[in-house]
Amino acid sequence: RAKEVGRNNYQFFLNSMNIRAARRMLMQEELRNAIELSQFVLHYQPTVKLSDQSVVGMEALVRWNHPDRGIVAPDQFIQLAEDSGLIHKLGEWVFRQACLQCVALEKAGFENYIMSLNLSTKQVSDLNFIDLFARVVEETGVDITKLELELPANMLMLETQAMMEFVQSLKRLGVMVSLDDFGTGYCSLGSLSQVPIDSVKIDRLFVKGIPYDQKSREVTNAVIALAHKLNLNVIAEGVETREQLKFLQEANCELAQGNLFSHALDEEQLAGYLSNLEQGQKERFIYGTNPDN
Ligand code: C2E
Ligand code: MG
Ligand code: MG
Ligand code: MG
Repeated sequence: RAKEVGRNNYQFFLNSMNIRAARRMLMQEELRNAIELSQFVLHYQPTVKLSDQSVVGMEALVRWNHPDRGIVAPDQFIQLAEDSGLIHKLGEWVFRQACLQCVALEKAGFENYIMSLNLSTKQVSDLNFIDLFARVVEETGVDITKLELELPANMLMLETQAMMEFVQSLKRLGVMVSLDDFGTGYCSLGSLSQVPIDSVKIDRLFVKGIPYDQKSREVTNAVIALAHKLNLNVIAEGVETREQLKFLQEANCELAQGNLFSHALDEEQLAGYLSNLEQGQKERFIYGTNPDN
């Protein structure tokens, strides 16, 4: 009897394993197809300078525009794309799309905005990446000094020559480099001081605890102090409240993103958002209330 129950459990376990594996395989196939069909869209989240709250750029964030499920968030498929090796093709699509968007914005008169792009660890360890990136830049005609690559901070755990050379090659191309999700994972402080990056992004986990959680406040202050010692800019992620904004301004954090300023916008919303902004700036100028004056 007991043996039978055991066997049934085992059978059940096997079946649910099969179901999970089958679902993964199915999704992987779907993802492969989606890449073939370019079923993706980029949304853009503005980056704001904290001293005057002006918009300095935007981060491209990929979404899967699924025919049945609608817009699917990246945490639902990036991992799978990495595990299956599809991230390289997806990444190439993202780059090309973001570069084209950058060129289109410039043509529409929205100049001087920085476009940030996310890289996953798998892409970072791909030696062909530098060539691919340079090719996409050339083909799209984007001004490379307007681009910023966000590297996962835990790549600094690989305190290797190869990692250092990877970042140096990017810098030689003229692109800005930042470290994403700083503070949550492992990161070699030795590498942090050696590697030629421009800025660090404080993970939104810490920002979330501001101002009520003392530990979050201290970690945030410490990260900002460390970054400034190393001559790096700091970008705070996930700013949602006025209190967080005030705290970060007082801590001399340079830049921020978050729903307090704007959530990620689709292409059309972005165009509207930027024209409103420039209109507002013009009006402020006309009426002499430009805060910069
Ligand atoms: P990330 O690079 O750290 O991006 C920030 C995430 O926080 C975005 O989620 C953004 O929508 C969200 N966020 C921004 N402000 C707020 C806020 O005030 N409150 C809250 N609760 N969330 C906020 P999203 O778009 O779902 O992206 C998740 C992650 O997926 C990204 O984290 C990034 O690691 C990855 N990802 C997105 N696009 C790409 C891509 O093109 N390539 C790669 N390799 N990874 C990507
Ligand atoms: Mg990012
Ligand atoms: Mg992040
Ligand atoms: Mg991230």
